[in-house]
Amino acid sequence: MSPDSRKRIALLGHPVSHSISPRFQQAALDALGIAATYEAWDTPPEDVPIAVERLRSGDLLGANVTVPHKVAVMRLVDRPDALAERVGAVNTVVNRNGLLEATNTDVAGILRTFEGAQVALAGKQIALIGAGGAARAVVVAMRQAGAARVTIVNRTQARAEELAPLGGDELDLRFAPLDPSDPTFRSTFDSADVVVQSTSVGMRHGPAEHDSPVPDDAIGEGQVAFDLVYVPEATPFLRNASEHGAVAIGGLDMLVHQGAASFELWTGRKAPLEVMFQAARAALAERERSTPGSGSEDTGPGTSGAADSTGGA
Ligand code: NAP
Repeated sequence: MSPDSRKRIALLGHPVSHSISPRFQQAALDALGIAATYEAWDTPPEDVPIAVERLRSGDLLGANVTVPHKVAVMRLVDRPDALAERVGAVNTVVNRNGLLEATNTDVAGILRTFEGAQVALAGKQIALIGAGGAARAVVVAMRQAGAARVTIVNRTQARAEELAPLGGDELDLRFAPLDPSDPTFRSTFDSADVVVQSTSVGMRHGPAEHDSPVPDDAIGEGQVAFDLVYVPEATPFLRNASEHGAVAIGGLDMLVHQGAASFELWTGRKAPLEVMFQAARAALAERERSTPGSGSEDTGPGTSGAADSTGGA
């Protein structure tokens, strides 16, 4: 293949330099012998329309979109799918001969994470801590998986209630304050099969790096704890849950699985998961060695993020 026929995939965000997606996506492309380069495009908000136009070019297979552009890009593409409309944000754009389709693979990332951990969600009671952009994808995923009930536990109750329409008719969506002294707080956690932590608490360099948003003994035996934060891999929330006997699942699984779902849309090939996990872990370890205590990213649907956090890709 001539160098001219090499394809490209972009990551649109601001900032993007911390992102480990280029590392694990490029590793996946190389492993399958696909002649394509995954490039981070640092795109300030005023340049987003022009960057999206560039994606129509024949050499671009598509893009990942991360904070703070997930909502803006949804309005600029030709065809956001029903899932993206439901979540209210896109993280993946696919260039189909100049026509831009877009979706949100965070939902698939969450569902594949639970499948990979062999945790069934149908009929289950879920406690969801947080109500930001990432929480929106969690609610949509739980609805899709047939969970019976999701109780959103957030510091700002009004923000949680904005997620009410996401439950549709089939999901019993409830709200509880993030206040351990409130009686609904205890009953929410006691009755939960699965607890999902989607705040930035516990994230390296986040607002409360050494904390968990819930008391140490809120989760225990017979329950599953999933933290969307993945730097560090063992957050205070996950460590506590694990010490009290719960099954703990970290956010790196979601990050890689959402990336794998995007990869499959751009290339039509099955993503080499092992290669992607290995490259993601190597990139995080390298970063940790060069700047100890650094670096978090996510490709979530969020519209905000700490300086070194990029919701998603
Ligand atoms: P966001 O939209 O900014 O929402 C942040 C959430 O955290 C809100 O619910 C906020 O509560 C809560 N919060 C922040 N500081 C808090 C504190 N000190 N105490 C209690 N609650 C606090 O962020 P996001 O986009 O949803 O992302 C949230 C986290 O998920 C980030 O750490 C991000 O890296 C991670 N993430 C991971 C992945 C992945 O692939 N693994 C994907 C997406 C996101 P209020 O509403 O009260 O402000």
